[in-house]
Amino acid sequence: MTELFGLNVTEIGEVLRPFQVPDYRARQIAEWIYRKGATDFSEMMNLPKAMRHKLSMAFTISRPRLASQWVSSDGRTTKYLLAFADGEAVEAVRMRQSYGNSICVSTQAGCAMGCTFCASTLHGVRRNLTVGEMTGEVLFIEEQLRASGEKIDTMVLMGSGEPLMNYDQVLAFLRLLHEPYCLDFGYRNITLSTSGIVSGIERLREEKIPLTLSISLHAPNDEIRSRLMPVNRRYPIREVVAAGRDYANVTKRRVTYEYILIDGVNDSEEQARELAALLRGQMASVNLIPINPVAERHLFRPATEVIQRFEAVLKRHHLAVTIRREMGSDIQAACGQLRNQYKDQHRNFDETP
Ligand code: SAH
Repeated sequence: MTELFGLNVTEIGEVLRPFQVPDYRARQIAEWIYRKGATDFSEMMNLPKAMRHKLSMAFTISRPRLASQWVSSDGRTTKYLLAFADGEAVEAVRMRQSYGNSICVSTQAGCAMGCTFCASTLHGVRRNLTVGEMTGEVLFIEEQLRASGEKIDTMVLMGSGEPLMNYDQVLAFLRLLHEPYCLDFGYRNITLSTSGIVSGIERLREEKIPLTLSISLHAPNDEIRSRLMPVNRRYPIREVVAAGRDYANVTKRRVTYEYILIDGVNDSEEQARELAALLRGQMASVNLIPINPVAERHLFRPATEVIQRFEAVLKRHHLAVTIRREMGSDIQAACGQLRNQYKDQHRNFDETP
């Protein structure tokens, strides 16, 4: 059996070739599986019955299954745990913002990056998600929203995983979402977040698609960054920032630097000045994120005054700064927390075969 879900219309045409169906059928099938949510050929009413039968013997159309769901107390954030056929599960989040619905999507089951503050990486990476699995996350939420007359407006790749470590599938997934027979989703409404894989940023720069790039910086220098993010030993901070600058210059799109504020680690005024110097002259903005504490790591959030002081220093140096509004912390919406909880409850979930 060949999996259809995740293929673009050209690829569907290719896998249909042995069945000698006319080319336009590929487009019809693509519309059925992506726009109309069909998971069974019997639903595809504009296909001849004999063809439906034949295709159903050769192809599967797999969608993730909802394993659990949490709604925040204010009702604005919903977190879904979606399970795939092999038992792996990832989180996807829907946030109702003032400007519409924003979703957060996972690109890998687990993560290999080893950032000390992040729950997604506590058990390493299990595997890359496929194009179909990532598309399944998005369409699952889109279909939920559609039922109440809403839609997805923006998307961030900030769930579990490092998108640039799953480069080809992530790009194919974004291109598929952009197709008119899928969601016709605008690239400008997508933010790809990376821990700073320089080679991937360079490749992305040449794709000529207007994504927003977000770089997880979290420190103003190599010493602190290497402590928090092992990836910094491979791609030191200056190379990361240089790659961000080139990305902005080539794409003419402003890069966002994410900066988690951690009490006593990276939140002093001196460090704010160091950060400002590092980003000087760059078309960039900084998004300050008070850390979502991860108990296992003993990392805590700074006092409000400390956060405000940090922000003020950056502004004084003419950097565009925002402080991330928190949503869903009462439902463990921080990366990976839910998956870990699920794993604890389902003892076989993460055991190496
Ligand atoms: N691997 C990619 C995308 C997934 S992480 C990346 O590193 O960017 C998405 C964002 O959540 C990153 O900025 C990451 O640093 C941040 N994050 C992870 N753990 C967090 C925590 N405990 N509190 C706040 N933000 C966190």
